[in-house]
Amino acid sequence: MNSYIKRKKTRKVQVGNISIGGDSPIVVQSMTNIPIEDVNRNIAQIENLKKNGAEIVRLAIRNEKGIEPLSKIIKASPIPLVADIHFDYKLAIAAIDAGISKIRINPGNIGDEYKVKEVVKAASVNNIPIRIGVNGGSINRKKYSHVTPESLVDSAMENIKILEDNNFNNIVVSIKCSDIFDTVEANRMMSEMRDYPIHIGLTEAGYGLSCIVQSSIVIGHMLMSGIGDTIRVSMTGDPVNEAVTGTKILESLNLKFSPVRIISCPTCGRTADDIDLLSIAQETERELTQNFGEILILRNEKLTVAVMGCEVNGPGEAAEADFGLAGGQNGRILLFAKGERIKTVAVKDAVKELIAAVREKLISPSTPGGGKE
Ligand code: SF4
Repeated sequence: MNSYIKRKKTRKVQVGNISIGGDSPIVVQSMTNIPIEDVNRNIAQIENLKKNGAEIVRLAIRNEKGIEPLSKIIKASPIPLVADIHFDYKLAIAAIDAGISKIRINPGNIGDEYKVKEVVKAASVNNIPIRIGVNGGSINRKKYSHVTPESLVDSAMENIKILEDNNFNNIVVSIKCSDIFDTVEANRMMSEMRDYPIHIGLTEAGYGLSCIVQSSIVIGHMLMSGIGDTIRVSMTGDPVNEAVTGTKILESLNLKFSPVRIISCPTCGRTADDIDLLSIAQETERELTQNFGEILILRNEKLTVAVMGCEVNGPGEAAEADFGLAGGQNGRILLFAKGERIKTVAVKDAVKELIAAVREKLISPSTPGGGKE
């Protein structure tokens, strides 16, 4: 855990075998983007999301025809699932009966009080948390014409109070809109009003780099302020990118352990033309993770490796790295450890030689390099 971050104490809720809130690690979530009826593709996507860092995945259930496939997906899923349901209380109860680990539904949209009570009863009996999710599109339009932090928080509180009036506190809250400042302020206000775990992210955040930057600002800012127990990066396109980005955000803040860290320079005119530093850095990360990821995790050790464009500044700038490569001239690369030269190797052999040096170090821990986190 990052000692700079003073995390706000929230209640702990249980989602299958994953807990959210309290002293639990921050959880990465994502959502499938395949109609529920396509059971096999949903299962494959969930497995892929898990492989890329997602710990909980949500699925949209549109009507009762979705319950049978949902139950098959739940049985095959390697991680806990959340059912996203709008309005229909019977659908929420059916999803709970099918074995879902959490539901997202806004009680203010369910309708008659007896319907809310039925959902609360089913969730209580099965210890299923309910996530209240308010976004720019779900503020109380009878009271508010604009999306503001106040209208978002007030609309979330209306939903929270309905559950609290039914003695239900197994709640996760999310308040999102597409504006960075409103989202941050609304979550700050919410975290002062209640101690329910908070699901954070930016909604309608777009796609690609722009989404990654905006989501990282919002999620990073909130986590650094101690707010947020679970995160979702909402991104148009393959949801695997959501999971990868969420995981990278947590790793960057030292909120998730990552056994391999690559440092690389941006390159400049000192980098020889025959050095493709991006490819070398990518290959280095892939090979190190494949070869040593598991052993490093088992040992709770972190390996920092620098991939630098030149010998002039590279080893000095990356002296803290356990190992490093620095581009030289005439098709050669310098292999170094803790800023100290080991040898020069041909560019084509650089990653192979690096892997051999790391292997030797991991087998013989007295060799320079490596380090416990
Ligand atoms: Fe340029 Fe060398 Fe610095 Fe990379 S390490 S940015 S190549 S001076």
